[in-house]
Order: sequence, then C-alpha cells, then structure tokens
Amino acid sequence: MSWLTAIARPEIRSLKAYEHAVWEPGLIRLHANELPWRSRHDASEAGLNHYPEPHPHQLTAALARFYGVEPAALLASRGSDEAIDLLVRSYCRAGADAVIICPPTFGMYAVAARVQGAAVIEVPLRRERNFACDFDTLRQHCDPRVKLVFLCSPNNPTGNRLEMPAILALARELQGRALLVVDEAYVEFASQPSLLAALAALPGLVLLRTLSKAYALAGARCGALIAHPDVVALLRKVIQPYALTQLTIEAVFRALEPAALAQAQAQVDAIRHERARVATALLACHGVRRVWPSEANFLLVEFDQAGAALGRTHAAGLLVRDLRLVPQLQQAVRISIGTAEQNNRLLASLT
Ligand SMILES: *Cc1c(COP(=O)(O)O)cnc(C)c1O
Repeated sequence: MSWLTAIARPEIRSLKAYEHAVWEPGLIRLHANELPWRSRHDASEAGLNHYPEPHPHQLTAALARFYGVEPAALLASRGSDEAIDLLVRSYCRAGADAVIICPPTFGMYAVAARVQGAAVIEVPLRRERNFACDFDTLRQHCDPRVKLVFLCSPNNPTGNRLEMPAILALARELQGRALLVVDEAYVEFASQPSLLAALAALPGLVLLRTLSKAYALAGARCGALIAHPDVVALLRKVIQPYALTQLTIEAVFRALEPAALAQAQAQVDAIRHERARVATALLACHGVRRVWPSEANFLLVEFDQAGAALGRTHAAGLLVRDLRLVPQLQQAVRISIGTAEQNNRLLASLT
C-alpha cells in the first residue's frame, strides 16, 4: 500500500465501493427501475428518464485529455466544492486529524473540515507582503495530525498567486505525511501556468480545477481533482454514484468542443483586459484606498469606508462581496469583473 492510501482514514481504506447497476449502453435497460418514456420537456440527448453513467468514464477521459493527464489521475466532481469535501472525509478522522488553511482564503476548506470534525489550523497570509504565504510558519504547524494542507493560487479573495517554487518545496517535504492540495480555480486568468507539469514528480500534490469560472459553467457544477491514481481511486470509493447529472455531462462535452474552447479563451482574454482597465479606473474613484493586484477574475478593493461603497453599488443595482468581517480585510470588497457595460456601471456608482 502506498503512503497516499496509508494516511487515509482506516474506514475508507477498507471500504468496498457501492455496486451500482451494470452500465451497458447498447442494451435495453430493464434493470434499474426507470420509466421507458421521457418526461414532457426533456431536451437532453440521452434522456433524463435514464440514470446517467454511475462513474462517467467518457467524461473523465475527455477531461483528462483536456488537462493532459491519465484518466486514472482525474476525478470529475460536482464542482471542486465536492472534491474538497471528499478529500476531508477520506483523509481526516473526526476528533483526531487536522487540515491547514491560509486565510483570508476560500471558505469551503474550513467548512468541509468542521463538518467532518477535523481541526482547522490557520496560518494567515501576510498582508504586509502582498498576502504571500508564510511557508516557514506553515511548516512549523505540520504536526502528525495534519493530513491536508490547502493552498489556493491564485487565491480567493486576495487575487494573488502563491510562490510556485515554495509550493513545490513544501509538497516535497510533506511526502509520506500529508497531501498538499492546490486549488487552481482561477489559474486560467493568471500569468503563470498550472502546476500540472509538477504532478508526476510529486505524488502528494493534489490539484483542483473547475469549469465554473473560466469556462462559464458554474450552474452545471463540474470540477476536476487531479492527483496520483492512488488518491483518485480512494476518493472514487467515497463519491456518490451518479454524482454528475446527465445534463451536466452533456453540457461539459459541449464546453470541451474546439469552438467552445476558443470562445472561452477569448472571454478569458476579455476579462483580463477589463480587469486591468477597471483596476486603473477604480484608483480614481472616490474613497478607494487600494486595489490589490489580481491574477483572477475579480479585484480586491479597499475603501476608506467599505460600508459607504457597498451602499452606493447596491443602490446602482450591483452586488459585490462584502468582506468587512474577514480578518485583515476590514475595509475590503471583492468585485467580480463583468461585461464592459456592467463594469462601467460599477465605476459610475463609485464616482
Ligand atoms: C469558486 C471557487 C471554487 C468552487 O468551484 P466549484 O467548482 O464551482 O465548486 C473552488 N475554489 C475556489 C478558490 C473558488 O473561488
């Protein structure tokens, strides 16, 4: 057994996966208690009267091709949110194990850990160093309880990338003890590529990708966990059969067609262009104290009075993210980059 399996929860190591109905699409399905007719407004290709493929192999193969990895190294999940939950449930014993997070960061890591009863150790990003990760302090907190370290790069909500050589050095040091999970939800908007190329040499590295942001499929709920096949095999036992709906599977296949990918790339370019324009324009707006550099599709903006800015944007019919309760971000607001027209409306509301 590899260490990637050995450090998992013993109940999960020994778990036998649920045996779902046989998947033989060429035959007539009288084995799963479905109705033989479609419902009235069913516009799907395959028919929603049928269960989807329990573990979608063709979709997994298509996503693996897309990311340039082996299908055995990829788990398709209901958004990366589900992948985060699967990791914590599979690796952390309630009341015994822990995860490390680096706030301010994406909230789901801590929520998933607390639901599972795992301890959450916080190693804050260093605001005075542009929200850089404090790798030395992080190392000091890597005691034997720690099974997962969550890093987010580019980070939500601060927008910065974490230092790539330091991430890789940490992954090497954690070998044999803990998984290093790097959430790359926004990597398509960044100036540096994904850590995908480093995976082969670092079996304890886990990457989270999603179609929700750069591929405009947040409503479809599809993410990809990319890791050593031992990690993927373990999580595959825990994920629900039929996790991805037929509608999601069909939407993802369409999104991976060349014309759709070309459009996605053009949209990412447009967002990056608008991001630079809005960042500059915001600096001229009333009460804006600071716009943090961003490698994602949002800006972290600090105001003299965040409350006043939130009032103005709301009055203009715009929702932005209030971060006033987040430590280190007391006067900050996170603003997603929209269309040029939406961005102009935002800038007008603050002028
Ligand atoms: C939006 C976001 C996700 C969620 O992705 P889904 O695939 O939609 O679940 C994951 N991580 C970060 C950092 C995000 O901001």
